[in-house]
Amino acid sequence: MINPNFINSYAKLPERFYTKSLPTKVKDPRVITINKKLAQELGLSIEWLESDDGIGMLSGNSMPSGSDPLAQAYAGHQFGGWSPLLGDGRAHLIGQINDSFGINWDIQLKGSGPTPYSRRGDGRAWLGPVLREYLVSESMHHLGVPTTRSLAAISTGEIIFRDGPRPAAIITRVAQSHIRVGTFEYFSSRGDLDAVSELMNYVIKVHYPELKAGDALGFLDSLISRQAMLISKWLSVGFIHGVMNTDNTHVGGLTIDYGPCAFMDEYDPKKVFSSIDTTGRYAYNQQQKIIVWNLARLALSILPLIDPIETEAIKKAEVTLGNFDKIFMKNWLKIFLKKIGIKNEKKGDAALIHDLLMEMNVSKADFTKTFRDLSKPNQEIQKISLSRNMSNWISNWKNRILDESNPMNTMSEINPVYVPRNHLIELAIQESLKNDFRLFNRLLSAAQNPFKEVSENQDLYLPPTNKW
Ligand code: AMP
Ligand code: MG
Repeated sequence: MINPNFINSYAKLPERFYTKSLPTKVKDPRVITINKKLAQELGLSIEWLESDDGIGMLSGNSMPSGSDPLAQAYAGHQFGGWSPLLGDGRAHLIGQINDSFGINWDIQLKGSGPTPYSRRGDGRAWLGPVLREYLVSESMHHLGVPTTRSLAAISTGEIIFRDGPRPAAIITRVAQSHIRVGTFEYFSSRGDLDAVSELMNYVIKVHYPELKAGDALGFLDSLISRQAMLISKWLSVGFIHGVMNTDNTHVGGLTIDYGPCAFMDEYDPKKVFSSIDTTGRYAYNQQQKIIVWNLARLALSILPLIDPIETEAIKKAEVTLGNFDKIFMKNWLKIFLKKIGIKNEKKGDAALIHDLLMEMNVSKADFTKTFRDLSKPNQEIQKISLSRNMSNWISNWKNRILDESNPMNTMSEINPVYVPRNHLIELAIQESLKNDFRLFNRLLSAAQNPFKEVSENQDLYLPPTNKW
């Protein structure tokens, strides 16, 4: 057994970046799941993770040597409204471990007790959202969507109150950093340009090693490209984040902070998942617009670093932000064409995919199943999965893909069989409350192998209202 070597490079930044804070000990920690594959990738000994010391860390009951737990300070725009002070109100950055490639990974506990940023919150998370974040983040990773990872889920043996008593749990998140657009806004709103600059150089070192320290425009430009890629990938798997506030927007281009998020079943571009999002601000088809708004908040925060002359800085930032739509549309089209088996775009292809999406919307077709069924050779299945007024589209499409080599392969490599559907996550959560984690574990293994059809998992493939 090898004890991990922790460091905490964030703790070496100035004290105003965080508040040192220890997780609150819990009564009866029990492992729900440990991500052994991720542990291996990180060079973390599984034996150690499963030992008293390992579970001590995952539950916040004991801290490994070299760790230096802290809660990060940040601000943010939530549903467009400004919150000058948020910060980790229920999370602790324990420190980092160094993998075999020399890359540092943040180990962060979420649900690990109150911090100075908790305001009126209890610093805890209940089992339901912990299981959802674990499943969805694993699914995203295996679908090829950049995301924070989940190393473990632990139940604490304690009861907390939400809309009733609920079992508490802790999720361990892993990423190269947990820095948000809101972290930049926090310092910029205080007029603390030194901190903005130091934060930016930290982010460049961690996420953009190809850039030179101080290259603010390069940073903005690179993040815009990454976010354009990220959002097009979200859309390609029917993902709705739900709460795209600036404090939930990662500056390295990862998906972060899984709240009321979900994969869409019936295709409806206006679909919303957060019950508090009454205006549809963060609907499926708004995500590419909202991210530009969020990136503009970042641009404003680093403006003096882009150019000391404000008018010049604004001009440069505007030009860079103006590139988003072009990059996004290019990525979007490339991915969506692959979803219908087209690798080499020809004139008329964009209309082909737009027509399909329109038909899917009208016929309330299931997003995941429709694309997957299209890649099946059996014509019958295609007929069942698509509404009858789509026969025109199908014959046009079939003609078009005659020009492609191996279109079915292209499609089955990009269109997943399994995404953790919302109704199944809900069911898995209900069952977990009876201490039955079988469905959670089935969903997890399907999420970790999303492109391989397994006959026993037919129930995980079907939409909630299986009318096809
Ligand atoms: P979220 O909606 O999870 O992105 O959180 C928004 C802000 O509320 C962050 O500053 C969180 O740390 C804080 N927060 C959310 N839930 C709790 C909680 N149960 N206790 C303390 N702070 C919380
Ligand atoms: Mg958040």
